[in-house]
Amino acid sequence: MAAAATGDPAVPDCRICGACCAYSREWPRLTLEDDEAIARIPPRLLDDAAGRMRCEGDRCLALAGEVGVATSCSIYEARPEVCRACEPGDDACTMARAHFGLG
Ligand code: SF4
Ligand code: SF4
Repeated sequence: MAAAATGDPAVPDCRICGACCAYSREWPRLTLEDDEAIARIPPRLLDDAAGRMRCEGDRCLALAGEVGVATSCSIYEARPEVCRACEPGDDACTMARAHFGLG
């Protein structure tokens, strides 16, 4: 999940999407974060052994709401770098949205 709406109707709005946060448990990985950044994430949302956010199936536990309807990241300010890098409309975004039947 990247950001709020851009105002461009051609660019999907993360707040009514959330697809990339529920596409694969392998996506929300912690690779670039230092100890300080990881400490900002509640431990119950971390899967330390796997080195990523804790997931239920493929859905990140930090995701709130319903995919394709209304969603938000419950740790938005502390979310992993990989989540910040996913931009609305990029290849990963398009793949995740297609998986959930979102145009
Ligand atoms: S799949 Fe794209 S539009 Fe949806 S939350 Fe992720 S970055 Fe935003
Ligand atoms: S940490 Fe937030 S932005 Fe990253 S996958 Fe989980 S819900 Fe999405």
